[in-house]
This record gives sequence, structure tokens and C-alpha cells, in this order.
Amino acid sequence: MISFYPGPSRVYGDVPRFVAKAYKNGYLSCNHRSEAFMQLYEDTEKTLQEKLDLPENYTLLFTSSATEGWEITAQSLIKKDSLHIYNGAFGKKWQQYTSLLIPEAKALPFDTTALPSIVNNINTPELIALTHNETSNGFQLPDSFLKEIRAQFPKSLVAIDATSSMAGVALPWEIADVWLASSQKCFGLPAGLGLYILSPKAVAKANALHADSHYNSLPFMLENAKKHQTHYTPNVLNIYLLNQLQQSTPGISAVHAKLKKRKMGWLKFFEQFTTIHPYIQNKAFSSDTVLVFSMDDAAALTALKKAAYDAGFMLGNGYGELKANTFRIANFPAILEKEIHQLKSFFRKYFSS
Ligand SMILES: *Cc1c(COP(=O)(O)O)cnc(C)c1O
Repeated sequence: MISFYPGPSRVYGDVPRFVAKAYKNGYLSCNHRSEAFMQLYEDTEKTLQEKLDLPENYTLLFTSSATEGWEITAQSLIKKDSLHIYNGAFGKKWQQYTSLLIPEAKALPFDTTALPSIVNNINTPELIALTHNETSNGFQLPDSFLKEIRAQFPKSLVAIDATSSMAGVALPWEIADVWLASSQKCFGLPAGLGLYILSPKAVAKANALHADSHYNSLPFMLENAKKHQTHYTPNVLNIYLLNQLQQSTPGISAVHAKLKKRKMGWLKFFEQFTTIHPYIQNKAFSSDTVLVFSMDDAAALTALKKAAYDAGFMLGNGYGELKANTFRIANFPAILEKEIHQLKSFFRKYFSS
């Protein structure tokens, strides 16, 4: 079965080899206060600086999921209010979870056909939450919009959920203060590891607020991170895999260029089928990593997904309210060129018979 599911997704073919290496080198029973772990942590941070262009003054923390990153943001970086600008299910969930802790977590939903106009009468929120790549509908925020947000709200922290784009898209790190993601999307790893990345401004705010009533309160996590330790026993195996696999990639600009080319290939490919259309019509907003296609006929879509499954391809279901009329194709780096060709020939055959 070849998975084109946008998370959990196809893992890199090198994963079994690196799991064996982790076992052989003792990482599977490695204590998180040990010298070996501290070195692994430090080395992983350096690897991400080198391969993902992560700025050296940004701090990498490990969590167990992206969802935990939402919660940490609400607990540790917001005292009074936040503004959540979103147009899909993940952005909405982030706002909803935050509102349970921060009653003044405001929602600014917008449509998938245009960017929201940020009206000047919005009071400066403490934190602005954005979903860089909305995995549910395939909408990706352009860098120009992120820049505009930064410019309009210089005093606010900007927090970005980049769960399905980090390690696939070259991110403009300096434009935001918090970047969160998890292992099972573009990183091509098993689930169960979250990345939580902070700018110096976010670190300063966390220390100033000094929220400390949770096991994963930021001041406590940051104190541990200074020693390259973690506040709980982390997923050491996945951290090891992250390190090894990122070391073996050519770096984010080459990876992103490859994905953009593949995306254009997919969009062009589907032009031949009259019943399938990209859900995000405007290419300026269409995701480089999660391709979402609409099919009006829900029964035909169900039949297509089943035929694909029987032929050995796992397509992504539509997400949430888009379930009945869309399907998703992950355009993640771990997917092989050969597998894309195979899926394309399945589609060709399916629609020609
Ligand atoms: C997958 C996903 C999440 C949830 O990730 P977990 O690791 O399961 O918490 C959050 N946000 C976006 C945009 C996602 O794609």
C-alpha cells in the first residue's frame, strides 16, 4: 500500500535502517538526562539550522504533538487575548482549544477565495495565530500576507501552525515568533513527536509571563532546553530519526523546489479529467504540500477512493465538512517519483475504462 494520505503519511524508506541503527547505538534505552541525549538534542538543532535554515537564535523544543503546541501557546504565551485568523478545520480547532483557556481568543474566519482584509480598528492582540498550510482544504498563506501581519502588528507575537508544511516548504522563520509542527507530515516520520520553535521575542515573553502551573509550561521547558534536556522522557527514537533523516536531505530549498514542481505536475495532470477540480482555484493560495481536489458526485468519489485502495493507493479522505466531496493527495518529500507515476497511471486507466 502506498500512502498519499496527508498525515500520518508515507515514512521515508530509510526509517527501518535508522531504527536499527538507533537500537544498535543504544538510543532506544537512552536516558534524557544523559550525555548521549544532550548531544543528540544539540546536534538535531544544528541539523535543522543547516537543513531547514532555522535561525541560530531560535529555540527548538520537543513536544508530543502539534496539538500540544496549541495548548502550550495558550497556557504560556497569552495572558489576555489572541486573534485567530483561519479558513479551515485546523485553524478553527486551535481557536476553540485556546478559547477554553483564554476566553478572549477571538476568531477571524475568512474565505478560501481571498485573503482577509485586516481592518485597522482591530485592537492589537497579544498573539496572532495563523495556520500556514490548512491541511483540511489545501490553502497556504503566501509569505506576503505573513509579512503584512508582522508589519501591521509589530507588538503582537505571531504564532504559526506549520504542521503540514515544515520540512517541505522554505519557511520565512523571522516573520513569526512561534512555529509548531509534528513528525508525521512533511518530516516523513512516524507520529508522536512535536516541534515547537520560538523566537527570542517569544522566549522573552514566556519568561516575563512566567506561567508555571502546567508540566509543559514554557519557562520550565526552556530551562531544561538550555541544558539540552527535556522536561519529560521524550520520543528519543523519533528525535534520532528526525536528526538522521534531515541530515540525509539536500536542504529545504531543493526539497521545496522539488515539491513545487510535483504540485504543478499534479495540477496539470488533473486538467484532463472534467469531473475533478482543484479545491483552491487560485494558485497563489494553493498548498505546495497538500493537494485537495473536488468531485461533485459523492458516490463517484467514494468509488474512486475504493478503486484506488484496491489498486494499492491510499488517497486522503476529505477532511471535516469537506469529507463527502473532496479527496486529498499528500505532496510530501518522502513520496517517490516512481509512486507518483504509478498513481497517475492508475487515474488514467480508471477514467479511460
Ligand atoms: C495534522 C495537523 C495538526 C495536528 O497534529 P498532531 O500532531 O496530531 O497534534 C495540527 N495542525 C495542522 C495544520 C495539521 O495538519
